[in-house]
Amino acid sequence: MKDILFLEPVFKEMIWGGERLRTDFGYKIPSNHTGECWAISAHANGDCTIKDGRYKGNSLSSLWDNHRNLFGNLEGDVFPLLIKIIDAKADLSIQVHPDDAYANVNENGSLGKTECWYVLECNTDGQIAIGHNAKSQTELKTMISNQRWKELIRLVPIKKGDFFQIEPGTVHAIKAGTLILETQQNSDITYRLYDYDRMHNGKKRELHIDKCIDVVTCPHKDTKGKKEIIAYEQGMEEKLISCNYYTVSKVMVFGAQTFTQNEPFTILSVVDGHGEIDGTPIAKGNHFILPDGYGQYTLSGKMSLIKSHV
Ligand code: ZN
Repeated sequence: MKDILFLEPVFKEMIWGGERLRTDFGYKIPSNHTGECWAISAHANGDCTIKDGRYKGNSLSSLWDNHRNLFGNLEGDVFPLLIKIIDAKADLSIQVHPDDAYANVNENGSLGKTECWYVLECNTDGQIAIGHNAKSQTELKTMISNQRWKELIRLVPIKKGDFFQIEPGTVHAIKAGTLILETQQNSDITYRLYDYDRMHNGKKRELHIDKCIDVVTCPHKDTKGKKEIIAYEQGMEEKLISCNYYTVSKVMVFGAQTFTQNEPFTILSVVDGHGEIDGTPIAKGNHFILPDGYGQYTLSGKMSLIKSHV
C-alpha cells in the first residue's frame, strides 16, 4: 500500500490579502493580510513539506528530484502543477501571463503560465476581470496609453462554483471578496497591466506594460471546457477542463464511493465538508497527492473536492 502524501501549505502575505484562509479554512496564517495558500507546490518560492508518513519533512521538490517513481517517472525539471487558494480582500492588479515560448526566451528559461479558477466563495454581486475589449493590438496600445481602463477591461459576474480557464495572454484579475482555488502550471511569472493607480507605502507597484502588450491575445478569446459529468451511486465527478497542462474536475461524495487512480499522480483538495479517504480523516482545507500506482481509493462522508492531474 502506497502512502498518501499530505502536504503542509505555505502562506503568502499580500497587500490585497485578508483573513479568510483562517476564518473559512482554519489555517494558521501569518497575518490578517494573507493572500495565498500554496497548498500543493514544489516551487522555489514556496516549497511544501510532507506532513507525515515515511516522507515526513521532505519537500515536494526533493520528492520530485529523488523519488520520481511516486510521480510515474514523469519527465521534467520541476513538479508540473501548483495549487493555491487565494483570498482577495481587495482587488488584485489586472495582469497577464506569458506562454512557455515567451517565458523561455524572456524569463530565463522559465515556464509560462496557464491557470484555472474554481470560485469557492464570492460576494452576491461578485465579478471577475477576464478578457478585454480591444479589437486589435493597435487599439490595445491606444487604450492603454490613454488609460481607458474601464473601457478596456472586461468584467463578468461570478457565483460560487463557477470555473474559468485562463490561457496565457488572457487579461485577468480576481476582485475583492472572492476566494478561489487555482490550479496552474508551476510558474510565478506575472506581468502587471494596471493596479488601479493604488499607492503602497508611498509608491505605485511596478507595471510591465511592454511585456503585457507583447503577450496579450488580441482580440480576447474565451476558453470553455466541455462539461462532462459522471454519476456514481454515492458520488459524482464533473470534468471542468482538460488542456495541455492539466485536467481538473470536481468530485462530490455523499456516502462512500470508490474511484480508481490511474494517472501518474493525482492531486485532491477538499473544498467543502469532511470525511475519510481509505479510513484516514480528511476535511475542508486538506490537500494531498495520491502517488503513481495507488490504485483504488474510497472517499466517504459528505465532501466536495477538486481533483487534478497532468
Ligand atoms: Zn494569474
